[in-house]
Amino acid sequence: MAAPFLLAIDQGTTSSRAIVFDREGRVVGADQREFNQYFPREAWVEHDAGEIWEGVLAVCRGALAAAGIGADELAGCGITNQRETTVVWDRHTGEPIHHAIVWQDRRTADLCRRLGDADTEAWLQAKTGLLLDPYFSATKLRWLLDNVPDARRRAEAGELVFGTIDTWLLWRLTGGRVHATDASNASRTLLFNIHEQRWDEELLAFFDIPPQLLPEVRDNAADFGTADAAHLGAPFPIAAMVGDQQGALVGQACFEAGMVKSTYGTGCFLVMNLGEAPVASRHRLLTTVGYRLDGRTTYALEGSIFVAGAAIQWLRDALRLIEQAPETERIAASIEHTDGVYLVPAFTGLGAPYWDPEARGAILGLTRDTGIEQIVRAALESTCYQTRDLVGAIGDDAITPTELRVDGGMVSNDWVCSFLADVLRIDVARPGVIETTALGAAYLAGLQTGVYGSLDEIARLWHRDRLFSPRRPAAEMDDLYRGWMDAVARVRSKL
Ligand code: ADP
Repeated sequence: MAAPFLLAIDQGTTSSRAIVFDREGRVVGADQREFNQYFPREAWVEHDAGEIWEGVLAVCRGALAAAGIGADELAGCGITNQRETTVVWDRHTGEPIHHAIVWQDRRTADLCRRLGDADTEAWLQAKTGLLLDPYFSATKLRWLLDNVPDARRRAEAGELVFGTIDTWLLWRLTGGRVHATDASNASRTLLFNIHEQRWDEELLAFFDIPPQLLPEVRDNAADFGTADAAHLGAPFPIAAMVGDQQGALVGQACFEAGMVKSTYGTGCFLVMNLGEAPVASRHRLLTTVGYRLDGRTTYALEGSIFVAGAAIQWLRDALRLIEQAPETERIAASIEHTDGVYLVPAFTGLGAPYWDPEARGAILGLTRDTGIEQIVRAALESTCYQTRDLVGAIGDDAITPTELRVDGGMVSNDWVCSFLADVLRIDVARPGVIETTALGAAYLAGLQTGVYGSLDEIARLWHRDRLFSPRRPAAEMDDLYRGWMDAVARVRSKL
């Protein structure tokens, strides 16, 4: 173990984690806890912000205990979080006025339709890099102001504050002294002008949001204040905040334009570093802040797939074709190909680059010979084909990558990594530490507190566990991919 230590709080959608890293980026202690999901209506998803805070404190204590260190041995703490999820609370009491509205929540779909036509959407994209979609914070915040009794009046009177989860945790850690966010989280709200790096009055007027609610926006590595000694036994500096996917971009040391990371958990998020020039996507990818350091913004292009590992959960829980996700590796490798079977896992519509919420899933190409092996393999292949959809779109918008850095639970599957390399025709690199999101937050905190001198120093800490290079002939893979595109065309709601 090499002191000093860095604490990363990784506040995710279904669980909160805390990890203590040493200066080499090795995990020296970790703890994790799930929390309740509330589904008050179809397509509504809420969290209890108070419960999240209690859980975060508990896992921080657990991680320090596991590492065998005290909070006084921390050089600093970095927070990374589920993005877009919206909390409003009372400035004086710290009490949330309502459950947090989670990024997955679709309650503002009608509002989005009412607010925007194609021209509006182009205007919003030009300022924010995003789409007019319930996914982002602005319409969630508007919903709270319009639906919680007295909320709008209290907001206008300056009694309430808004934050994404990073801001909420920071507020609680500092005993209400600091109301701030970082540029990567701000860039997911639809209220932040990514070119001017500030809250945008026209956007605030458009969404009818009182500016008094908003946190101050700081760099990703910055002085975010000091955590109260009461929480973990000693005060420590909060030195970084970053949205989860941008955290992974940093944790994967993708610091050069054209470098890409892709995270394969329940869904898949692919993020490319764009350097200092934001590119507007023609394929409905999102332009977003990758990270901002010393006031200089590095932009990123992002595409997401809703269902990646979730398709494997579906094979296990709904179809009961497997008992455990890792079995899929052996099953997929036991056959040469799927015999033309494709599985399109559009359970909740299709994400980038299609953005087709009405599309639904299908298994195509079934014959009498189709068995469990073909379907299992088709499910794994679907994640790889969808990644090629994204890499194709990103290449057309900006830069064709030469390597993909992967992480997330699904990439422990070697077969997936090697098929991915074959489909993409580029190298797929898997790092030693796949907790890249938390690692990114820790790196940023280390940068701020002088543990690391530069991004170059951090890049040198990135170690490859394994490299997967394309092996199967390009022509064969192109044929297979054409079959995938045909399958997607059959499930789309409109063409
Ligand atoms: P999240 O952070 O979204 O909860 P994780 O990064 O923990 O996700 O990854 C879990 C997902 O990865 C699950 O959906 C699971 O089905 C999938 N998964 C885990 N191990 C494997 C494996 N060996 N092969 C295929 N999928 C896997």
